[in-house]
Amino acid sequence: MRSFQFYNPTRLIFGKGQLEALKTEVPKYGKKVLLVYGGGSIKRNGLYDRTLSILSDIGAEVHELSGVEPNPRLSTVHEGVEICKSKGIDLILAVGGGSVIDCAKAIAAGAKYDGDMWDFCKRTAMPQDALPLATVLTMAATGSEMNSGSVITNQDTQEKLGWGSPYVFPAFSILDPEHTYSVPLDQTVYGMVDMMSHVLEHYFHLDPNTPVQLGFCETLLRTVMEAAPKLIHDLENYELRETILYCGTMALNSMVSMGLAGDWATHNIEHAVSAVYDIPHGGGLAILFPNWMKHNLHVDVARFKRLAINVFEVNPEGKTDEEIALEGIEALRTFWTSIGAPSRLADYDIDDSQIDTMADKAMVFGPFGNFNKLQREDVVAIYKASL
Ligand code: NAP
Ligand code: FE
Repeated sequence: MRSFQFYNPTRLIFGKGQLEALKTEVPKYGKKVLLVYGGGSIKRNGLYDRTLSILSDIGAEVHELSGVEPNPRLSTVHEGVEICKSKGIDLILAVGGGSVIDCAKAIAAGAKYDGDMWDFCKRTAMPQDALPLATVLTMAATGSEMNSGSVITNQDTQEKLGWGSPYVFPAFSILDPEHTYSVPLDQTVYGMVDMMSHVLEHYFHLDPNTPVQLGFCETLLRTVMEAAPKLIHDLENYELRETILYCGTMALNSMVSMGLAGDWATHNIEHAVSAVYDIPHGGGLAILFPNWMKHNLHVDVARFKRLAINVFEVNPEGKTDEEIALEGIEALRTFWTSIGAPSRLADYDIDDSQIDTMADKAMVFGPFGNFNKLQREDVVAIYKASL
């Protein structure tokens, strides 16, 4: 393992009926609340009314920012920062999926910064403070509810960039599996692909002696793979939603990645695709990850072999290590296809015309990836293999 410090201050409030916890948690931060939400799913499923009713019971002064886009935009962050500064907001409450939460994080840091929050994405400045933020998660996917990361899209420059700061860990996050019942089938699938991809990003690392971490990762992958085929036919099954919700948080709250530096190249490659084509993050990952794996098989074939045997139950008898590893990668592709995820960029009508543009965007901070540092030609090869 590499030396590490573990720090995660988010109070996780998990279970049926836990929205009530707003009554005790919100007043700890003040009276003026900025409620941030997306395109209307919380109005359709009743969560908006229930949240407002609780906030009204505790006498909160509620301001609203609605319409946060999937792949949240810098222009929406700017709107939120303006509200926070002009109204003197005490707490930002994000009610939604990863996009709403990521947007709320950007607003929280932007509200305490004199320049443009985009500076954090471009790494020309670091947040020095942030407003407190909290979340009511409505979709299992990103882990943003219990981590310090955020991904923002700048429409003007067609860039989608991740950033992070310890100041933007949510103070608390409320996770009720019932809040995820209304997530449509396609988004449910994208969310499961995203959380599996987070686990895989951790799994492919070069740090030695990480048996517990690898075992945790394999358990998470096997658990999602067991629940997913049942959940897609039974979207309001409490136990399945509960399992997947918990997996999504555990996949990216640093609990399974202590002492290692995961790869993260595939996320970077995907962000460049969504920056140009605005496709769902999980859909992009399903297409790209198996191709990143094939491209990097040579780095440590034993790690791919271990994944194939321990997670995909590939029978190793009479096969070379490379054959076993490749069978595991195919099994991952087959599994994602079986639950309805896309497998080619063509599934989103993406052809080879923007490969250079996407590669330039992916390379904005130079070569990347901790398991294998990718150069521009590697990125182009992975895009080409994904057409
Ligand atoms: P999302 O973009 O937040 O939401 C996708 C769609 O699902 C939206 O249309 C949303 O509708 C709908 N939805 C959410 N909850 C719903 C519910 N309970 N019922 C019905 N519809 C619901 O999806 P996400 O996958 O959670 O977030 C994706 C973003 O997070 C991407 O930008 C990705 O790059 C980023 N990301 C962040 C991290 C991180 O650690 N911060 C990690 C990975 C990815 P409404 O808008 O109407 O609510
Ligand atoms: Fe992700």
